[in-house]
Amino acid sequence: MKADNDQELAKRRAIIDTCLRMNASGLNQGTSGNVSIRHGDGLLISPASRPYDTLEPEDVVHLAMDGTSSGRWPPSSEWRFHRDILAARPDAGAVVHAHPTYCTTLAIMERGIPAIHYMIAVFGGADIRCAPYAIYGSQELSDLALEALTDRKACLLAHHGMIAVGSTIEQAYWLAWELETLARQYHGCLQLGSPPPVLSDQQIQDVIDKIAGYGLADD
Ligand SMILES: [Zn+2]
Repeated sequence: MKADNDQELAKRRAIIDTCLRMNASGLNQGTSGNVSIRHGDGLLISPASRPYDTLEPEDVVHLAMDGTSSGRWPPSSEWRFHRDILAARPDAGAVVHAHPTYCTTLAIMERGIPAIHYMIAVFGGADIRCAPYAIYGSQELSDLALEALTDRKACLLAHHGMIAVGSTIEQAYWLAWELETLARQYHGCLQLGSPPPVLSDQQIQDVIDKIAGYGLADD
């Protein structure tokens, strides 16, 4: 029993640490991002509208898959897509949602990201989709996000932000930054006037195969 409690406490701390890292690194501002980690039959998720620098492990909210929460505060208003992603995706152990500047700039333009760089392969395919707009916190937004995440580890949310899905919270946070980097590079390409050339589906598949065999290192 104690081991379970220790594991839960570590997850609660990891959620707070990730929220703090998101803001310190510039991935996010204010309390608009939120983070979840699978826990048993449910999940642990950051609370709604609490300043991150005041969070204690007890402030993290436990959510059952039926949406019932337990804790001091209500769960993040985006609990539906956190819950639905973890329910639908056995490969997912954690979800990071934020409003990083370059991802959100593309999302405002309702643009996904094409295969401008081979690193897009770490997300599972040759593009990042942008889910159509729906109001924050809604079931419609969750449904649209889940569809945009088909066979992918990230998506953009039109006029809103992004979602990254990892097997662990560390991977989800890393993917969130890789996505923001791709978005920044694509934004830079678009400044040069013409649509950038893109890698083919086969070239991206070759990278996916290489990562599976050798890992990511290219040095
Ligand atoms: Zn948001």
